Amino acid sequence: MTAPPPWRPGTRSATRRDEAVRLVLAGRALAEVRKELALTTVDERLVVDYLLHLAATATRAVRREVGPARPADRHAPPTGEVAEALAAARACMNLHPAPEQPGHLKLHWSPLTGRMARVRVVAHTCEWCVLESYELCASGGLMFIRRTDRTHARPVESVTEHLPEGRMMPLWARLISGQAR
Ligand SMILES: [Zn+2]
Repeated sequence: MTAPPPWRPGTRSATRRDEAVRLVLAGRALAEVRKELALTTVDERLVVDYLLHLAATATRAVRREVGPARPADRHAPPTGEVAEALAAARACMNLHPAPEQPGHLKLHWSPLTGRMARVRVVAHTCEWCVLESYELCASGGLMFIRRTDRTHARPVESVTEHLPEGRMMPLWARLISGQAR
C-alpha cells in the first residue's frame, strides 16, 4: 500500500508536484524536472520526501530481520524502478563513505557470531545505493563498527573490536573519509 502524496490535490502546486514525481519515476533527473516545472524549494523538498517514502514502502516487504536491537524502521535497499528513480534524482541524502584512500588504515574485521543484545546504532552509512554499509554501534559502554556486505546472495556481517568511544570515534571518522576500511 502506498500513501497518496502529502499535498492537497486539485491545486496548481499539487499538479506541479504530481508531475515532478511522475517524471522522476520515469527516469528523469530531478535537476531537469526542477527547471522544467519551475519547482519551488518547498515543492522540491516535498517531492524528494515523497520519493523517499515510496522507496521505503516498496521495500518494506523485503525487510531483513537482523537482530532485536536493530531499530524497527530500517529497510532493505529499494530495488528496480524506485532505486533507479532515486539514483536518477540523486535524491539519496544518506551518508556515503568516501572511497578508500591509498595507504588507508586496515581495520581488523571479525565475523559476527550470534546475536548481540542491546546494540544501539549511533550512526550508519547508506544501505540503499551502496552494497557495503557500516554502522557505528554502542553496546555495554563500548563502541564498534558493524559492516554488512551485500555483494553476495546472503549478507555477510563483520565487526571491529570493541573500543571506548574516545578511541572508536576517530576510527569511524577515518572510515567515513576513506582513511580506514
Ligand atoms: Zn545512498
